Amino acid sequence: KFITFEGGEGSGKSTQINKLAERLAAAKLRAIATREPGGSPGAEIMRHLVLSGMGKLLGPDAETLLFAAARDDHVRTVIQPALSQGTWVLCDRFSDSTRAYQGSLGQVSPIVLNAMQRVTIGDLKPDLTIILDIPVEVGLQRAAARRGSGAPDRFESEDLQFHQDLRDAYRQIAAEDPQRCVLIDANADADTVAARVWTALRDHVFA
Ligand code: C5P
Repeated sequence: KFITFEGGEGSGKSTQINKLAERLAAAKLRAIATREPGGSPGAEIMRHLVLSGMGKLLGPDAETLLFAAARDDHVRTVIQPALSQGTWVLCDRFSDSTRAYQGSLGQVSPIVLNAMQRVTIGDLKPDLTIILDIPVEVGLQRAAARRGSGAPDRFESEDLQFHQDLRDAYRQIAAEDPQRCVLIDANADADTVAARVWTALRDHVFA
C-alpha cells in the first residue's frame, strides 16, 4: 500500500508518519517511511538545491523540473521497488505538494504539471492521501518551535497569505478527490491525530 501525507508547515506530517510506521510494525506489516523532495540519494541532492533558494534563481518551470527530477529518482529507486515487494510506503509529501505549491501557488500551468506527472509517476497513485489540516498560525508556530534559532527554508519564509492559500489549495484537493484523500483536523495532540489517521486507514485501506 502507498500512503502519502500532505499538509502545510507544522501540520505534523513526519510525527504522524512515525506513529503510523510503529503501528504497522506492531501489526507485523512491513513499511518504510520516506519523504519528498528527497527520499533517495540523488533526490536528496536536489532537495538541497531547491530548499537552499536555488529555485528562485531558476524560475518556476525549471524549479518544478528539479522537483520532478527528484521524484523520478525517488519513485524509481525507492517507492516502486518497495511496493513491488509488498512493503507499505509512507511518504511525507508527494504529487499533491506539486499541485499545491508549484501549481496553485507557483503558477506553473496544469499542462506542464500533467506532462511532468506522466514522466515521473505514470499511473502510480497513492491508495490513500492523508491531508493534515491546521490553522496557519498554529502550524507556523509549531514549525518555528521545531526550527529553534535556525533559518527558515525558502518556503517557510513566505508570508501569511502564502500559507493561507496553501491551506485552501489542499482543502480543494481533498474536496476534488474524496475517494483517495482524507482531510484530517490536525489541530490536536499527536496521539489524537494518530487515532484519526488510523480511522482513515480503517475506512479507506482495510475496508
Ligand atoms: O515538508 P518539508 O518541510 O520537508 O518540505 C520541504 C520544503 O519544500 C517545504 O518548505 C515545502 O514547502 C517545500 N516544497 C515545495 N514544493 C513541493 C514540495 C515541498 O515547495 N513540491
